[in-house]
Amino acid sequence: MTNPLMSQWDTPFELAPFDTIRDEDFAPAFEAALDAHNAEIAAIAENTDTPTFANTVEALEAAGEALNKVLSVFFTVAGADSNPAREALQRDFSPKMAAHFAAISSNKALFTRLADLWARRDDLGLSPEQARVLMLSHRGFVRAGAALEGAADARMGEIKGRLAVLGTQFTQNLLADERDWFMELTEDDLDGLPDFAVEAMRAAGVEKGADGPVVTTGRSIITPFLQFSTRRDLRQKAYQAFTARGANGNDNDNRAIAAEILSLREERAHLLGYADFASYKLETEMAKTPDRVAELLEAVWQPAKARAEADATVLEEMMHAEGINGDLEAWDWHYYAAKRRKAEHDLDEAELKPYLQLERMIEASFACATRLFGLEFTPLDVPLYHEDCRAWEVTRNGEHVAVFIGDYFARGSKRSGAWCSAMRAQAKFPKVQAPVVINVCNFAKGDPALLSYDDARTLFHEFGHALHQMLSNVTYESISGTSVARDFVELPSQLYEHWLEVPEVLQEFATHAETGEAMPAAMLEKVLGAANFDQGFQTVEYVASAMVDLAFHRGAAAADPMAKQAEVLAGLGMPKQIAMRHATPHFAHVFAGDGYSSGYYSYMWSEVMDADAFAAFEEVGGAFDPTKAKALEDNILSTGGSKEAEELYVAFRGRMPGVEALLKGRGLS
Ligand SMILES: [Zn+2]
Repeated sequence: MTNPLMSQWDTPFELAPFDTIRDEDFAPAFEAALDAHNAEIAAIAENTDTPTFANTVEALEAAGEALNKVLSVFFTVAGADSNPAREALQRDFSPKMAAHFAAISSNKALFTRLADLWARRDDLGLSPEQARVLMLSHRGFVRAGAALEGAADARMGEIKGRLAVLGTQFTQNLLADERDWFMELTEDDLDGLPDFAVEAMRAAGVEKGADGPVVTTGRSIITPFLQFSTRRDLRQKAYQAFTARGANGNDNDNRAIAAEILSLREERAHLLGYADFASYKLETEMAKTPDRVAELLEAVWQPAKARAEADATVLEEMMHAEGINGDLEAWDWHYYAAKRRKAEHDLDEAELKPYLQLERMIEASFACATRLFGLEFTPLDVPLYHEDCRAWEVTRNGEHVAVFIGDYFARGSKRSGAWCSAMRAQAKFPKVQAPVVINVCNFAKGDPALLSYDDARTLFHEFGHALHQMLSNVTYESISGTSVARDFVELPSQLYEHWLEVPEVLQEFATHAETGEAMPAAMLEKVLGAANFDQGFQTVEYVASAMVDLAFHRGAAAADPMAKQAEVLAGLGMPKQIAMRHATPHFAHVFAGDGYSSGYYSYMWSEVMDADAFAAFEEVGGAFDPTKAKALEDNILSTGGSKEAEELYVAFRGRMPGVEALLKGRGLS
């Protein structure tokens, strides 16, 4: 039998023939594809002809087609429909892939050719997009250390190896502390807790081998416990255990690991010629420099802190009114905030849900794209990897644009969360290829399937990423769609969430599952009001974490990260009732790997932009203003990473984003 992963796909739109692919096809196709890619890379690196853009950069772009094909199918099913065989394959593939790509980025012969082209870049007659692809390829190699020689090269290898070990250890320590700690509750201790929380605590008790319900440090348990438990002493105990994760002085203590990681990162940045790690890390981001990140965080900090302090006074008065004297403490905040939320924005999810039917919300997300960008969606009958998956052909003026796949329902074989990926990214080289884009969510099934308001926002969010892929219009795949800076990639997705909140959209599509009536205006107002609740607290806990992350990587590495953290918080005047969202010993974003190190700010950076970008529509003809829609497509949704993010944003907006729209959106102005 032939292996479909190693054959031509003569299917509609060359979609993967999911109905014929078996799990045992992956490993041989993966090995063959790795070999093929290695052979392609060797041919490029060992070419004795003078390097040209075509024989080096374009050759690299064209290489790895077989590998892309196998991995796009494999990662789709491994994430959305796994099984033990696929899990075993993933354990096998992951280290092999890491080693494969590390070997390419440290291939000296290849780097020599790129460096030669880079030196002659002005004489090569390149188009702006080609010049950009050359710059990115060359920079990627330099940043990985390909230009280092001798002792520096060897030391870089050691540092990378040690950082990988430390990142894993940090994660495992954190998991161990989270697994080890739990607090047993008697039936009397359950006072005030809602049924769903008690159920989760009982299930956790069974898992821990306890006699009754237990509190654990998992967010789905600790959060409702802190919000609803009437037992102040138990809230204190749980809160202190939660914030002590990774700093318990046991075998799982992460404090020394954090110090070593920071020191190695600094050394790595110095070896590569950067002043500090933040400068190295931010070079590829829209923010570009530590100073600009600091500027953003500072602009948000003061108004957020002022709001949080005003809220603390209200909450403390509520506590005193209950006869509890003294100061409001950190373990009281969630409890009184939940009471206040109930009093001020009583919103019954059960009442809201019938208005948010999955089918109608999908229609809404499509209808907005039709009005904004002229896209049309036609259901497509093709074999997919699970019976819950659906596909649409996306066209504009009768021309094929993309295939869009939606896989919306939760199931045991799917990992949690929601995501968007391109099974095939848009490109015109070496041949024209239209994108195949998938949105995966974890919504509860039902007849009809009903969404929470957060679910509906997630649907729009992921569809925003999908538009970024589907409307991409560049030549080279390495810069197409969502291949942009980390602090820019959430702009299209977060921006698209705003269309869900446009009154005429909800008016038309948020209709009651039984009566067909539109959502009442009063309910809509409550939904939007509740979304802004407690933003002072949330902004403070987030910005404090981002400030500490930045301080860790800016300037000399701190020998004692805990002292540095204390110094930053004191400098900020951190309200004592609020802790960092992630304190250093459990700040996995920053220490479990490199992903968000000196990058934790990027969530807020994106939020500043999405608020500012949507304001651009509101300032002119409203949410569906055709000129702004065209500007958004021309400058952001179609351009991928073909230009610097800042250039793209300024082309759309006429200026850099300001924080005013965000402060207004969060109710902080
Ligand atoms: Zn996203």
